[in-house]
Amino acid sequence: MRYGNTRELCLGLEVVTAQGEVWDGLSGLRKDNTGYDLRDLFIGSEGTLGVITGATLKLYPLPKATLTAWAAVPSMDAALALLGLAHKHLGAGLTGFEVMGQFALGLVVKHMPQLRVPFQQESAYCVLLENADQESEEHARAQFERLLEAALEEGCATDAVVAENIAQARALWHIRENIPLAQAEEGLNIKHDISIPVSKIPAFCTETDALLKKDIAGVRLVNFGHLGDGNLHYNVQAPEGGDMQAFLRDQEERVNALVFDQVRKFGGSISAEHGIGTLKVGKLPHYKSPVALKMMQAVKKALDPQGIMNPGKVLLA
Ligand code: ZN
Repeated sequence: MRYGNTRELCLGLEVVTAQGEVWDGLSGLRKDNTGYDLRDLFIGSEGTLGVITGATLKLYPLPKATLTAWAAVPSMDAALALLGLAHKHLGAGLTGFEVMGQFALGLVVKHMPQLRVPFQQESAYCVLLENADQESEEHARAQFERLLEAALEEGCATDAVVAENIAQARALWHIRENIPLAQAEEGLNIKHDISIPVSKIPAFCTETDALLKKDIAGVRLVNFGHLGDGNLHYNVQAPEGGDMQAFLRDQEERVNALVFDQVRKFGGSISAEHGIGTLKVGKLPHYKSPVALKMMQAVKKALDPQGIMNPGKVLLA
């Protein structure tokens, strides 16, 4: 959260063009207003405009102390309120804010019994927070304690723990990182990597959860992600005991359409961090603004007229 996405961390690029020329854009200037921003054009283009062969990256000093906390929150609304409080109390120290739904954490409990998941039984969501401090560990701990006290008082958290040491902090992150593995252990599922304006996430979840549950009896929702960025991994797991292959075959298109239509309704994006690739190349024209799509096609044609750069990705020919 603190350091931003790749576009915010990359100051320059070197690119080999489709014509075999080299563009040296590595200078790393903070300010350069001499026309179009070619760097941002190539970042996230998935190799469809040229081959990135070098990059100048922004660096930050290591924090003096990094502390991790885990909080039980009663709802997505409460998670959002906690995010607001965390911004207020930690400022730029807030480096991580991950939300995890009860069912997603339940899968970790079930498939990785060696991991101890705090507050899983009693709360709809849990949140993992990280505070990276430039002063000292005492300062970071005091800040965290004030934040969590305020959160408990306001009711946006019902319980919280701060990791006592690095081993405990790693164990908490390990739970979050094991959700995708636990989900795979449970069986096939339909994955979504979506972003929604942060303030609209609770309404999006309430509405979309209800639509899916109405549509597919017994459907199970594995919802977790980077709430601070408005990025959810909103995954749909087959009903328990059902035929998972059949679920994927029969429901995937309908589930995708339902979720992506909801994403559009809430002003979000159908790919927050994983890109378009081939998996979503057919869906993009349906969900991207036609004006934006036309400009993307014009750029592709201008830079790669023969269509030799990673063909078939991002844009259909
Ligand atoms: Zn992610």
